[in-house]
Amino acid sequence: MSTTGDSANREKAAGFLSRLQATPVSHFIAGQWQPTDGRECFENIEPAGNTSLGQVISGTTEDMDAACEAAADAFPQWSQISGQERKRILHHFADLIEERAEEIALVEASDCGQAIRFMKQAAVRGAANFRFFADKAPEARNGLSLFQPDHTNYTLRQPIGPVGIITPWNTPFMLATWKIAPALAAGCTIVHKPAELSPLSATLLAEISERAGFPPGVWNMVHGFGEIVGKRLCEHPAIKAIALVGETSTGSQIIAQGAATLKRVHLELGGKNPVIVFDDADFERALDAVVFMIYSLNGQRCTSSSRLLLQNSLKEKFLAALIERIGKLKVGHPLDPDTEVGPLIHGGHFDKVMSYVALARDAGATIAAGGYRPEDLSSGNYVAPTLFVDADNTMRIAQEEIFGPVLTAIGFDTEEEAIQLANDTDYGLAAYIWTKDTGRSMRLAQRVEAGMLWVNSENNRNLPSPFGGMKMSGIGRDGGDYSFDFYMETKNVCIAHDSHTVPVIGA
Ligand code: NAD
Repeated sequence: MSTTGDSANREKAAGFLSRLQATPVSHFIAGQWQPTDGRECFENIEPAGNTSLGQVISGTTEDMDAACEAAADAFPQWSQISGQERKRILHHFADLIEERAEEIALVEASDCGQAIRFMKQAAVRGAANFRFFADKAPEARNGLSLFQPDHTNYTLRQPIGPVGIITPWNTPFMLATWKIAPALAAGCTIVHKPAELSPLSATLLAEISERAGFPPGVWNMVHGFGEIVGKRLCEHPAIKAIALVGETSTGSQIIAQGAATLKRVHLELGGKNPVIVFDDADFERALDAVVFMIYSLNGQRCTSSSRLLLQNSLKEKFLAALIERIGKLKVGHPLDPDTEVGPLIHGGHFDKVMSYVALARDAGATIAAGGYRPEDLSSGNYVAPTLFVDADNTMRIAQEEIFGPVLTAIGFDTEEEAIQLANDTDYGLAAYIWTKDTGRSMRLAQRVEAGMLWVNSENNRNLPSPFGGMKMSGIGRDGGDYSFDFYMETKNVCIAHDSHTVPVIGA
């Protein structure tokens, strides 16, 4: 492992951040930034040095009520605007994201600790999410024509109403755009509740929305804690659906909190995703993907391949190459362009991730790499890229989502055993299969319990494809038309041809 020093990006980031630090970061409701005087705040701590990035207004249930009411007031107008006009505004929004790409990347990396080399893509991906759904906006309402001899049925879709979008801290900008873009394209108004641990890029998004030309109340954003403002968002009767990206336990709470108002929910939750490497795999490509899919984004990625299932005939050679590669990963400050692994989001999460090192040892696994905080990076929440070997699938390190740069390797002999191990988890988000045997990859695609499978690839994203998990990894799918199904109601209209006999009673 090598560590890296300071970066010129810090000066630029400090410039962008100083504006956000001058006054507490506030809510954006009904087209207005909310006053900050006398408001209760919480401190936004950055992960690289655990210093303050400024104050954030701690939202109350009254703030959330105001945001939900604003979204409800704006809904009739926004839902009636033509698809072409929504397309135009959403493309304009994407243009504005691109204009501020550098600022977004630097602020995001500073706030959530993800390495700048990956966050440079955040703005590009965010803009792409908006453009993709902008282009689909004019056709979002289209349905099917279903013919019967005496009737013709046609379906149409209408936006469901104001919706709540609750996002996590791991890649906050990209995930917020991924959820918000289809909601707006469908004609819904939104209330965004960003993660309290990474509030800054959501603030930039709301600023951009102000310039993009949305009518007031179409885009609302309330900062604060999940158990206060997030909960109220789920309970508010004006809100018709909640899209959450977060932990599995939070997903359960969302369902409970939304039960009284019968909320539609879309839950994108945690994972303990297997990467299965057979001995006929392309060794170098599989190695590259295994390293990338657990150690990039600091392992704080829902689709990270955190369980490495290795065919025993390949295990020794693969693990040796893997340990060598781990030793070369560059751990460092998120704003350093060379950094590949940055700090974890906050001290509490650092402690959680490190607790698995002790758990691994106690369970009898071997720590083949990492498992400590690099000495020269002691002020931040850095965890050296970690590998557990001599593990089995019953251990907590193989069953629980650690959400850090921590990989658990487990051997297997047969295809059947690989499938059993892959499925022996409560989660079912993603799986990665490495083999040159096409038939085998297709058999595994049938039997491995995951919402998304990649064969001989890291997680390539295709925006029209469905994204989401099975089992405890979630409910529902995003992407393309799947998103519109969530954010819209489908109506069936049945029209008689006046050729059938209407039943007569009481004649
Ligand atoms: P989290 O569940 O703690 O928080 C997510 C959001 O939910 C935050 O905004 C939080 O304030 C809010 N929240 C918390 N309690 C709430 C409540 N009772 N009511 C309403 N809102 C509430 O998750 P996190 O720690 O921020 O993010 C990491 C998790 O997100 C991991 O489990 C990860 O796998 C998951 N994730 C999943 C995907 C996916 O697509 N499946 C993508 C990214 C992250």
